[in-house]
Amino acid sequence: MFAEAIKEDLYSCLKCAMCQPVCPTYRVMRMERYAPRGRVQMVKKYLEGDLSITKSLQEALMSCILCEACAQACPSGVRLDRVFENMRMELHETLGPKFAKKALFAALQDPLLMRLGAGIARVGSRMIVAPLNIEWKLGNIPLNRLPVFNRSSFRSRVGEIVPAKGARVGRVLYFTGCATDLINEDVGRAVVKVLTSLGLEVLVPRDQVCCSVPIFLSGARREALPNVQKNLDILDRTDVDAIVVDCATCGGGLKKAVPHLMEDLGLDTEKAHRVASKIKDVSEVVVEYLEELPIERKTKESPLTVTYHDPCHMVRSMKVSTPPRQLLAAMDDVRFVEMAGADQCCGGAGSFQFEHVEISAGVTSRKTANIRATGAQTVATGCPGCRLTLTGNLLKTGDPTVVHTLQLLAERLRA
Ligand code: SF4
Ligand code: SF4
Repeated sequence: MFAEAIKEDLYSCLKCAMCQPVCPTYRVMRMERYAPRGRVQMVKKYLEGDLSITKSLQEALMSCILCEACAQACPSGVRLDRVFENMRMELHETLGPKFAKKALFAALQDPLLMRLGAGIARVGSRMIVAPLNIEWKLGNIPLNRLPVFNRSSFRSRVGEIVPAKGARVGRVLYFTGCATDLINEDVGRAVVKVLTSLGLEVLVPRDQVCCSVPIFLSGARREALPNVQKNLDILDRTDVDAIVVDCATCGGGLKKAVPHLMEDLGLDTEKAHRVASKIKDVSEVVVEYLEELPIERKTKESPLTVTYHDPCHMVRSMKVSTPPRQLLAAMDDVRFVEMAGADQCCGGAGSFQFEHVEISAGVTSRKTANIRATGAQTVATGCPGCRLTLTGNLLKTGDPTVVHTLQLLAERLRA
């Protein structure tokens, strides 16, 4: 079920290799099969009948991080992201998912199962991993560096309508994603605190479900549809100014990948585009009100040195890179230091880091070296996945802590 319109892109590839130097997997593996050009040629050969689906082809294509750096660099306008998304569906429908992925998909598709899994993981980390100081790793991340799950669902506790503080100037809908709902309650609280302080009423629909990006970017596009359509029904509202996300993966998915998915499957895309037009990273919303932000004036003596990591889906799918930096610049006691390669992938990419451990480690080590070179005490970012990867790999003494940009901002709001 490879979309006909995307097949044409394969014939625009000039084999110029301009995509090669920006590809994180090629930089680690130095082999054509791990480079965008090589991958595009393999897809072309497959569609022309010269290559069949094998485990080797699957490895070459599933070891792509889907970071979109190649699509951005291609002078011929080859939509490599869409080529790879379509090809993953071919692979998935021929070879099927592995057991671990099947279990993950089942959990992401069922909120009750996901909450049950989160509860078990919380008990496990508090009663077994922490007291016994178990040193095992999951992929490249030591178990004791994995985040502890929330006590219960953030959404179920925050309430469906959080009123604005003071006079209401607008209303936004907050799509929390699974990470904030079940793991990063600290981020959820910061987002709500900042938005309501700006005079925004925040709606948090309790029945929103997983954005399903991990499902459909693995190739299981049809399996993701029930969740995708449920979210579109919930989010397609005319009475909100914006749909706010704090997760680059959810944001990139709802803004770009979901409309692509619907289009490639020949489904009606109208609702998906309506919703996509309202998706904003929380930093984009906050900078619109930067002048009114009730931010505490702090002393500039001994400032906190902060660097910023651009999540792939935020900088490329959502095209958001300036607003988080503007927020950091607005904090008196923050000294911002730009890192080299800030927009290069952290190597995490969700389950990628657990399935392609060696490549992931290579990509991550470049990022952590760039972070360390800044001497920053804190790394700010806008994606729970990047936060998990960086927290799990910045393990040396003196390494910075990793937070969401909104957490830094929330700490500096006037009471
Ligand atoms: S940059 Fe574009 S045209 Fe050049 S090899 Fe890569 S995909 Fe092909
Ligand atoms: S999406 Fe990223 S990892 Fe995949 S081929 Fe393109 S640049 Fe390489």
